[in-house]
Amino acid sequence: MSDKIQTPRGTFDVLGDAARARDELERTARGILERAGYERIETPTFESTALFARGVGESTDVVQKEMYTFDDGGGGSITLRPEGTAPVCRAYVEHGMHKLPQPVKLWYLGAYFRAERPQHGRYRQFWQVGAEALGSDDPAVDAESILLLAEILEAIKVSPVRLRISSLGTPATRAEYKAELQTYLRSHEDRLSGEVRDRIDLNPLRAFDADHPGTQEVMRAAPLLLDRLTDEDREHFETVKALLDSAGLSFEVDPTLVRGLDYYTRTVFEFTSDALGSQSGVGGGGRYDGLVEQLGGPPTPGMGWAAGVERILLASPPPPTAAPPLDLYVAYAKPEYRRDAFKLAADARRAGHAAELELGGRSLKGQLKSAQRAGARYVAILGDEGTALKDMESGEQRVIQIDTVMHHIRTGL
Ligand code: AMP
Repeated sequence: MSDKIQTPRGTFDVLGDAARARDELERTARGILERAGYERIETPTFESTALFARGVGESTDVVQKEMYTFDDGGGGSITLRPEGTAPVCRAYVEHGMHKLPQPVKLWYLGAYFRAERPQHGRYRQFWQVGAEALGSDDPAVDAESILLLAEILEAIKVSPVRLRISSLGTPATRAEYKAELQTYLRSHEDRLSGEVRDRIDLNPLRAFDADHPGTQEVMRAAPLLLDRLTDEDREHFETVKALLDSAGLSFEVDPTLVRGLDYYTRTVFEFTSDALGSQSGVGGGGRYDGLVEQLGGPPTPGMGWAAGVERILLASPPPPTAAPPLDLYVAYAKPEYRRDAFKLAADARRAGHAAELELGGRSLKGQLKSAQRAGARYVAILGDEGTALKDMESGEQRVIQIDTVMHHIRTGL
């Protein structure tokens, strides 16, 4: 025997209970998002590398070290999508969606790729469910978007969840604040970790995320972006908070909340769960009012989020494992009845019934056992005496015409 080939590091198969749990999550997310007017969108698994370099930001970890980038075979550079917002904005521009009534509300569920160090809850291929609303800067869009993710997490029973929100203001406010923070960090350089020190120029906000005790102490007295917002941005944030309050959703304002992607403006938020250990982020997002324009579209505000499917499932109870109902199991006593049995099972499925044919070459006794195991409601047994239909609930069995099987399973024996 040759060596076994296994899935690459940081990837996994989805099967059995895990596959059923995913289906359940997809059904729940679809229901909640489509009831709020979100429509499904799927973008390609790979995109031009430029989309992420420009959209996500050159200084981010994602672009600097986590992208799977390769030659497209014709001299161009493509990248396996590390996130979903930039692709949705690209699609918005590419399809002229600014001409539709605004906001355009889209949701998606698919696989994303990041070259990270794999660990519990962190993979190289993972799934995200996400939602984006483009074309309105109304604070109600922000609040509604956050509420929809909260409802999905609640419906899937993710617990315990914590919601933190903040506002990053406009790019101008942020640029000014960034300079202020850089000055502050430089004046305390000797107490910062090497990593934070190296990133003062590129991404000083990440200092708030540091685990390093010295850095954390310096950051406790650092100036906060939330205290530097313009009146307009502050009012926007106040309205978002008031709307969340009115929906009864509890949250904490966390002025140090920094998201790993560059495109955010104004509202940012994150749901975490203590059930997850160190990779506690379940989902998050925010407003990105400059992104569409940055990607060559008209000035268009946007707001959205993405949540990790694996993290949601890790932090929630497994759904009850109910086998899908089986209306009819078609058994046959001898190989010469296989043809009729095959046709009966196919006809039953075409008529909308769940029907399975014996495919394992079992004895008739074995077939009846496997019908029972599969939870079949009825078993049709094709044999020398014709077709017998057995009601597995009552145990009643009758010989009937083969062309009346469907009639009998619809109306009862
Ligand atoms: P982000 O785009 O980084 O904000 O990620 C959004 C959500 O996707 C996170 O809250 C996680 O739940 C999930 N996620 C991000 N990266 C990974 C990963 N490498 N493995 C599993 N889930 C991830």
